[in-house]
Formats: sequence, C-alpha cells, structure tokens
Amino acid sequence: MTLLPQTASLHERAKRVMPGGVSSPVRAFRAVGGDSLIVESARGCRLITTSGQTLLDFVGSWGPLVLGHAHPEVVEALGNAAARGTSYGATCEVEIELAERICRCYPGLDQVRFVSSGTEATMSALRLARGATGRELVVKFSGCYHGHVDHLLVAAGSGLATLGTADSQGVPAAFASLTRVLPLDDEQALVDLFDREGDRIAAVIIEPVPANNGLLLQRPEFLQRVRRLTSKHGALLVFDEVITGFRLGPGGAAERYDITPDLACFGKVIGGGLPVGAFGGREDTMAHLAPDGDVYQAGTLSGNPLAMTAGLTTLEILQRDSGWATLEALGAYLEQRIASLPKNPAFPISLARVGSLFWLSLQTGPLPRRPDAIREDAGTAYRLLFHSLLESGVYLAPSAYEVGFLSLAHSRSEIDLLVEGLHRASSSGPPCGDQ
Ligand SMILES: *Cc1c(COP(=O)(O)O)cnc(C)c1O
Repeated sequence: MTLLPQTASLHERAKRVMPGGVSSPVRAFRAVGGDSLIVESARGCRLITTSGQTLLDFVGSWGPLVLGHAHPEVVEALGNAAARGTSYGATCEVEIELAERICRCYPGLDQVRFVSSGTEATMSALRLARGATGRELVVKFSGCYHGHVDHLLVAAGSGLATLGTADSQGVPAAFASLTRVLPLDDEQALVDLFDREGDRIAAVIIEPVPANNGLLLQRPEFLQRVRRLTSKHGALLVFDEVITGFRLGPGGAAERYDITPDLACFGKVIGGGLPVGAFGGREDTMAHLAPDGDVYQAGTLSGNPLAMTAGLTTLEILQRDSGWATLEALGAYLEQRIASLPKNPAFPISLARVGSLFWLSLQTGPLPRRPDAIREDAGTAYRLLFHSLLESGVYLAPSAYEVGFLSLAHSRSEIDLLVEGLHRASSSGPPCGDQ
C-alpha cells in the first residue's frame, strides 16, 4: 500500500489503515455526522484533540474513568508498576488484592476470574453457566448489550441501534438460535418463556441497569421476578455489571436492588482505564472453571499487573474519598439543574439518571423502560444538541442511545457548563422532528 504524504490529515491516515478510521464503531460519528475525535491527551474531565480543541468530557472513555483522566495517583502507581515488569504470565500480589476487594464488596461473590474485556467476561460467564447447568439456552433482553459475543449480538443496543441493523452479519443462525430474546419490563413474557422452555435455560443475562440503549431504569419488581423465576427453574442469573460495577457503589446494581445474582460480570471501572474484565460467583459455581473444573477459559494477559494496579488504585481512591457519595451528589445536582430549565415543548429534555450515569431523554412523558418506548426520531434532535454542545467545547457521546458519565474530576461548575449548553441548544434549535 502506498503511504500517504506527510501532509495527509490524521483522519485520512486513520481511515486508510483502520475500517472507519476507528478501533471500535461507537467512536465514529456515524449517527451524528462529522469527523470523530483524535485525541492528543487528556487530564481530569478534559480531552485535548490533535487539532488543539479542549473538550469537557462526559464520555469518560465510555465508562471506566470514574476518577477522570490521568488521575495523578493512578499514573504514579502505574509508573511504579511498569518499572517492576509489564506482564508476568503468573499470578501477582496486586491481582490477589483486587480479587479480594471485588469479592469483599460485591454481594454473593466468593471468587472471580480476570479477563481483559467486558466481552470476555460475559462470554466466559455464559460458558460457565452452560457448563455448570448442562443446559444450552441463554435468555437476554432486547436493548441490553453484553459485548460483541456472537450469540449475544441479538437486539443488543446502541452500537447496533445506530447502525440500523438488528443483528450482525457473521453470526451463524445456529448460534443465535440458542439465544432467546425477551422484552424488558414484561414479567408475563418471562413467565411464558420459562413455562415453555424452563428446563433448557442455562442462564438469564441482564444489565440490571440497562445503559446501552438509553438508560432504561427498570422497576425493582421486574428484576425481583427475574431472580425468583431463575431460581425456581434452576437457571443461573447473570448480572452484567460491566458499566454499573463499582460505579453505582461497591456492590453495584446488586446492592442497589438488593438482589444477589449467581454470576456477575465486570469491566470498565475495575480496570481504571486499562483493559480488564472479570466474572465471578459462588465457590461451587466457579469450581466448574479450569483448572479445577472442566469449563475451559484462559488468557495470556489476564490479571496483567498494570491493569490490576490501575483497577485497584481506582477502587481504593473511590473508597478512601467517599467517591460514590460525591458522584451521587454530582448526579443529583445535574438532575436538579435540568429539571429547573424552562420547559420548551418543541424540544423536550428530561434526564434519566442513577448515580453518576445519565441519559438525556428527548421526549415528553414517562422515562422509557424499554427500547421501543424511545421515540424513533430521537437521533434527529440529538444530532442538533450534540453539535451545538461540541461547538461550545462540551463532548457528549456521539449517539442518542449512549449514556453520559460523571467522574470525580467533574465539579458543579462543569455540570453548569453542560446545562447551559443544553439550554442554548434547545432554545435556539428548530423543533425536533421538523427537519
Ligand atoms: C461495555 C460493555 C460490555 C463490553 O465490554 P468491552 O470491554 O467493551 O468488551 C459488556 N456489557 C456491558 C453492559 C457494557 O456496557
């Protein structure tokens, strides 16, 4: 391949050597238009792009950066760790410490297995569930995303929602046929499925706080019903806490709803910005995993000392500085500021929020609890908001279906900037849907 001249822009060079110029499709600005970001550096709650723009960041690397970018203590710990070796291919002390901390904090967890991404965590947890139960079917909910695992790329939320494909090419029908998809917020559908196929269901996987297709806050009764039915039929309940784990609090959504799953999946926050995932459960369930059991799972870089150090340091700081209480207060402030904006019927904005996770719902009426309750033209209004905010230096995710993230690096004044930007955009923009 011919090399582009030195004068070619980074965007041109990126597009030439990487599909869409990105390493993950959500980073491309397909849903909102324009060039995706190329970042030069980041610190606190701000990103600096290679074109010199400073952006107030509400994406936080899509969830991991609960302390903000380049937190000095995390950076220092990483420097020290790197000097002691970047990978051992053997167990290290910081890995044991992180495992102990996760097991101590999360309800019902005796053991965890570290992996390198959230996708690997859900994929391996479901293999374990199938191995432990000897059953084949997996149930997921429409709008929940569990990584790009073949048999879970069915009705899987934002990345796919914005691409307009209900499904991915390249997933054999035979794989998808082992997945049952149910609507969220619908106990009867769940009961009916268990009546029909309960003895074939290995696991029900759910984001207890679905945060990949808007923020679809569930009724506690619905989640409790999922727990009761899985127990009754001998299926394992898998909580995908890749976003919520250690973001909502030390016990994630399980603690918030007081529901203990059989298996839990983690990622994002527990890696402090480095590639980490984990899944865990009771000792008797985890005993099915190799080397103790016969469900195989492995990883060259699993439990990597740098990744473990970033994760452990992040969790220690959250605990030491009462991070979760601060995040909740910041979230409450955002909620209160948005609620007090003058109502513009032509451009409704309401906020779905839990802790430091938030989503702008651009419609009137109750907050949606399932994907089909989100207005179909949400993307049109969002595109307007997105670009207006970007022009004033505020970066939200480039899709109407992605949540926003607050971090301990944000303060009220940065939230004010966001809210002022939203107000400006919604009062100057044309009515949504009328374009
Ligand atoms: C991000 C995410 C995943 C996938 O994690 P990766 O590290 O991107 O593979 C899985 N489940 C949920 C709920 C997520 O938000």
